[in-house]
Amino acid sequence: MEQDITIVWDNCLRFMRDNLNSIEEKEGISKLDDSFTLLFSKVKPLSLVEKNLTLQVPSDFYKEYIEDNYLSLLSAALKKNIGKGVKLWYSVKETIPQTHEKPVQQQVKGQSFQTPKPQQIMNPAFAQQVVNPFVVPGIKKININSQLNPSLTFDNFIEGESNKFVSTVAKTIAKRPGATSFNPLFIHGGVGVGKTHIAHAVGLEIKNLYPEKVVLYVSSEKFIQQFVSAAKSQSKADFANFYQMVDCLIIDDIQFLSSKSATQDMFFHIFDHLHQNGKQIILTSDKAPVDIQDVQERIVSRFKWGLSAEIKSPDYTTRKKIVINKLHRDGIALSEELIDYLATEVTANVRELIGIINSVIAYSMLLKTEMTLDLLKETISKISANKKKTINISTIQDVVCKYFGIEKEKLLSKTRKRDIAMPRQLAMYFAKEYTNATFVKIGEEMGGKDHSTVMYACDTIRDQSKVDKQMKKFVKEIKEKIFE
Ligand code: ADP
Ligand code: MG
Repeated sequence: MEQDITIVWDNCLRFMRDNLNSIEEKEGISKLDDSFTLLFSKVKPLSLVEKNLTLQVPSDFYKEYIEDNYLSLLSAALKKNIGKGVKLWYSVKETIPQTHEKPVQQQVKGQSFQTPKPQQIMNPAFAQQVVNPFVVPGIKKININSQLNPSLTFDNFIEGESNKFVSTVAKTIAKRPGATSFNPLFIHGGVGVGKTHIAHAVGLEIKNLYPEKVVLYVSSEKFIQQFVSAAKSQSKADFANFYQMVDCLIIDDIQFLSSKSATQDMFFHIFDHLHQNGKQIILTSDKAPVDIQDVQERIVSRFKWGLSAEIKSPDYTTRKKIVINKLHRDGIALSEELIDYLATEVTANVRELIGIINSVIAYSMLLKTEMTLDLLKETISKISANKKKTINISTIQDVVCKYFGIEKEKLLSKTRKRDIAMPRQLAMYFAKEYTNATFVKIGEEMGGKDHSTVMYACDTIRDQSKVDKQMKKFVKEIKEKIFE
């Protein structure tokens, strides 16, 4: 028999609110209630068929926010009011204010929904009221802080084989922003090769040549963060409007938009608006467009509209030029032999090269001795040993497997035996704590588990480690091994 969905949903909300209130009372938090009310006032129960509950949400953001913040509470509410094994579905019904948006098919867990026709774009007068951390309230667009680092100029950028093409294009763009065919300019390459530097350099040069132009540099993490808080405070329209005001938008490390589908939708609209109005867009990424994962195809194809160019690891000559330049600027003299040694040995990227030069300078000042080849070698080996390893889901799995003496294959299998299932839950917990991966992504990497399994695992470990001494010890020791 089908239950009356409105009553069921109201009961669920009441249950969640009651439990929230008790948390609030205990912890003296007063803000919780506001965001809860705000969030769930936009969520409508659509259907409840054989324990399949579909909620209508205004955007992917709501879905992600509920999953990240309220899922265990919601699960408990559903269990209490509907029973065990309830499946939750979302129907996304988005309304982003844009003029040129086409209706988009949203694919939500195998179901498709037609987004309604968007409303008219907002009144430009709105621009004055934009709520954005980059803007001083009440001040016009000319005063937007570009967030550019004044030291990352073209002058301070050493050109060589590995970056010549990109830097030439970047200089051309700076002379005629938005008016060349290099729009967007998509710069990709490994870590520390100079992507961020070049991106700032173009921005600074544009400001230099055209002081009236609005240039804005933003990391994609910050962009995502701002978008999330804009969505929370119902000011997505302000957010869009703000970004659509700029003449040159630079977004660094765009690969982090991966899997952030609500932010991607917003980025898409901003991109098209700017592009259609002849504004310059500069993007950097650690991957070429073809290799970017979990970014909508319509966005990836736009990455390729202008010019996509790679900065490679610096070759020997470039490295040598960088060493000489850096030493010269710091007023340090090193023998030709030592310069050569640095340029030959430190090959990975420019960031590491500069880091090592800084350390070498610091060590020799500290020791108050002349730098010798032996001392240089010793310094480099010390620095290399101190390098932090990167933490990803795979390294976490390795650490957990080693700790419990189990094979990775077992960890990723479907077995529910406790001696495997518990380490697996720990691995999921650490993946959520120490990487940026979503529940879905973690589930995929843990041998194709459902995201709800991952959430349950995280909750379980978190709860158990509070009350269970053994679990507390596991968490502490594995954490140390992960960061070892
Ligand atoms: P990425 O963004 O590619 O990871 P960055 O632009 O942050 O790398 O560069 C790392 C460091 O190396 C920065 O301090 C930057 O100023 C410096 N750097 C990179 N390439 C060059 C270059 N060709 N000349 C001078 N400094 C460089
Ligand atoms: Mg960078």
